Amino acid sequence: MNHTADAVVIGGGIMGASVAHFLAKKGAGKVTLVEKRSLAAVSTGHSAAVVRTFYSNPLTITLARRSLDMFENDRDMLGGDCGFKRIGYMCVFNDHSAAPSRHVLGLEKAQGVDAREISPSEIQDLVPPVHVGDLVGAIYEPHSGYVDPTKTTQVLCHSAKEYGLDIHEGTGVIGIKTEGNRVAAVKTSEGTIATRVVVNAAGPWGRAMGLSVGLNYSLRWSRESDLVLDRSEKVGDIPLISDPTSRTYMRSNGKNEILGGRGFPKELEPMDIDNYNPILDPNTRQRIEQGLFQRIPALRQGKYIRGWASIYAITDDWHPVVGPEPGLDGYYAFFGGSGHGFKLGPPLGEALSDIILGQTPTTDIRAFRPNRFAEGELFTSTWGGGNRA
Ligand SMILES: Cc1cc2nc3c(=O)[nH]c(=O)nc-3n(C[C@H](O)[C@H](O)[C@H](O)COP(=O)(O)OP(=O)(O)OC[C@H]3O[C@@H](n4cnc5c(N)ncnc54)[C@H](O)[C@@H]3O)c2cc1C
Repeated sequence: MNHTADAVVIGGGIMGASVAHFLAKKGAGKVTLVEKRSLAAVSTGHSAAVVRTFYSNPLTITLARRSLDMFENDRDMLGGDCGFKRIGYMCVFNDHSAAPSRHVLGLEKAQGVDAREISPSEIQDLVPPVHVGDLVGAIYEPHSGYVDPTKTTQVLCHSAKEYGLDIHEGTGVIGIKTEGNRVAAVKTSEGTIATRVVVNAAGPWGRAMGLSVGLNYSLRWSRESDLVLDRSEKVGDIPLISDPTSRTYMRSNGKNEILGGRGFPKELEPMDIDNYNPILDPNTRQRIEQGLFQRIPALRQGKYIRGWASIYAITDDWHPVVGPEPGLDGYYAFFGGSGHGFKLGPPLGEALSDIILGQTPTTDIRAFRPNRFAEGELFTSTWGGGNRA
């Protein structure tokens, strides 16, 4: 291990991998990424990795558009093939959820996003096995899709080795050391690395890392599960479907599989992030399956293949904290994906690398600054508090 670095990134999920990639590529010097387990081992590797632009504020739409652009051009922009599959996205709605859905469509249209409202019969044409029931329409984004989250993280990291990125898996950070009002070093299980730039991308442990330098982040953790079914022959490929009525989301997963999970509105499931069962529990499996079968009855004939549980790290306004901390030079926060952080990782990592290097980022991400909570400038959601972004 090098004992000095120009920048140290703590955490090898999508957030850490993204900022480390862009820092190295933009010539930040010796960049070291330290991961206590292996790349993408926690939330990132268990993500549904849906990349869509259907968001209730203009900045998140802008970043999600940038993300889609990056994944569509992954070899040039992210260093390799991330397994992007453009299968389209639809958020279906009934009378209750029609107004917020149309509001979001208006925000997307204001930015020129290729999204449109479709009727129940168009939903049926696009997804023949769907049970339309009380649905009155859907917002449809033909360009959205999903990627392979583990592959993406590995591509970002390994492609940046040619620019000098130094990666240490199986190495835990014990704490950040300061000198006066600036960071001075990172203490790891394998020794101390002197550095003047530290990015806290420790995901669910972002709060613990912050506490090591006296920063008290408000972060909650919720157990979040997905399952995969071998779809029956009656169910062909389906796009990504968010369904607030059945409270599920689903999408094709490769050739013959359907991936599903519980969708908004949903309650939190508080958890111990240092001691949890990563296997899908029977009760959650039943709830997910009920929702999937309600919307696509033919899925009942599908076969359960696997399921898992992982972590949502949730901030007070369901948006990540990204940026410097006033009063602690050289320290940057980058965590709190709040259930939708995968797609935001690459564009936020790109913008944060510019900020660290003293350059003006293409997208102004000051709204994500950690002290927005103290300043009372929180993100709000069209869907109501504690809900989807
Ligand atoms: C089931 C599920 C489905 C999801 N679906 C989607 C989706 O469809 N689209 C979307 O955009 N988002 C989705 N998300 C959310 C998204 O996956 C997360 O927001 C994102 O992966 C968070 O990335 P991260 O890098 O902040 O955290 P993580 O991936 O958790 O990475 C943090 C890393 O830091 C490491 N670390 C922690 N402490 C230390 C330490 N002291 N020393 C060294 N390393 C340390 C950890 O080992 C970990 O690898 C989903 C999440 C889940 C759980």
